[in-house]
Amino acid sequence: MIDQAFLNALKTEMPQLTWQTDVPMSRYTTLRVGGPADCLAEPGSSDELGTLLELAGRYRVPVTVIGNGSNLLVRDGGIRGLVIRFGRAFSACEAAGETIAAQSGILLSDLSQQAQNAGLSGLEFASGIPGTLGGAVVMNAGAYGGEIAQVIESAEVLSEGRIITVDHDALELSYRHSRMQRTGELVLSARFRLSKDDPAAIRERMADLRIRRQEKQPLNLPSAGSFFKRPAGAYAAQLIDEAGLKGCRMGGAMVSEKHAGFLVNVGNATAADFLMLMRQVQETVYKNSGFELEPEVRIIGEDA
Ligand SMILES: Cc1cc2nc3c(=O)[nH]c(=O)nc-3n(C[C@H](O)[C@H](O)[C@H](O)COP(=O)(O)OP(=O)(O)OC[C@H]3O[C@@H](n4cnc5c(N)ncnc54)[C@H](O)[C@@H]3O)c2cc1C
Repeated sequence: MIDQAFLNALKTEMPQLTWQTDVPMSRYTTLRVGGPADCLAEPGSSDELGTLLELAGRYRVPVTVIGNGSNLLVRDGGIRGLVIRFGRAFSACEAAGETIAAQSGILLSDLSQQAQNAGLSGLEFASGIPGTLGGAVVMNAGAYGGEIAQVIESAEVLSEGRIITVDHDALELSYRHSRMQRTGELVLSARFRLSKDDPAAIRERMADLRIRRQEKQPLNLPSAGSFFKRPAGAYAAQLIDEAGLKGCRMGGAMVSEKHAGFLVNVGNATAADFLMLMRQVQETVYKNSGFELEPEVRIIGEDA
């Protein structure tokens, strides 16, 4: 249980803060599974975030950071301590010259839209990824030949209580990896270097990618996108398909019939269902092809 003294301090020292206790994480993840977080707060500014982290430190409350929850599998026992969610209130964005800078809670769809409005090309690949800027930088999100590493110039991160600017190379971006996965640092904002282009041409490319996604991906069902990383020399979806796993089901979790790389929630799935299905897929693919599939989805929280 979370320290009541911490909750009392939130009430008295941060009366403006938006927060709740005992919050089902299924509401905050696109897979729609996950047990309760002891406390979930959505800071509205850097100052609020600073005070919140100071209080969490003072009362020794563990902190988990999330964005849009689109790459998360939260176990059924939920998350002890404080979950900080970067959302709408943390989504300022500004284009200047050939750069665009934004805060970590902005959705990639909004960021790429604002880039398009400003006649800046380079973020088209991100327009259909349903995450926030923070989550995308941490995951080095990518699609259709583009990825964050190609366009990011720097990020502001909170590192041991100090805000520092981390340049491209120091972000250690590689396939679905960044230094923040190693350090646990918080991403506050990022700056991207783009190139000038005709807004209509950018819009057209975004529309084309949207159609390609709709054709290939089961966007009508809750998922976390591609569940597994692409192993060197192969495609996860193809390996899963070749192992005969399309439609394979554990409780409410199923390998999508439309795209075998997606594990989808077909109704009232639990995190345990997804974990069982994940192991089943890993074992079967290994037996069938010798490839070891590693989850791309971040698995967090406690078992029930
Ligand atoms: C339908 C669908 C399609 C998808 N397609 C793609 C795709 O084409 N390409 C792709 O790469 N991904 C894809 N994804 C996965 C997902 O959208 C991306 O990984 C996205 O970047 C995650 O962002 P998020 O805000 O949801 O992060 P979350 O899932 O909330 O968090 C992901 C990780 O980042 C950390 N984190 C989040 N915000 C911060 C922050 N501000 N500071 C520090 N750590 C933070 C969390 O602790 C966690 O470890 C897809 C998902 C879905 C559901």
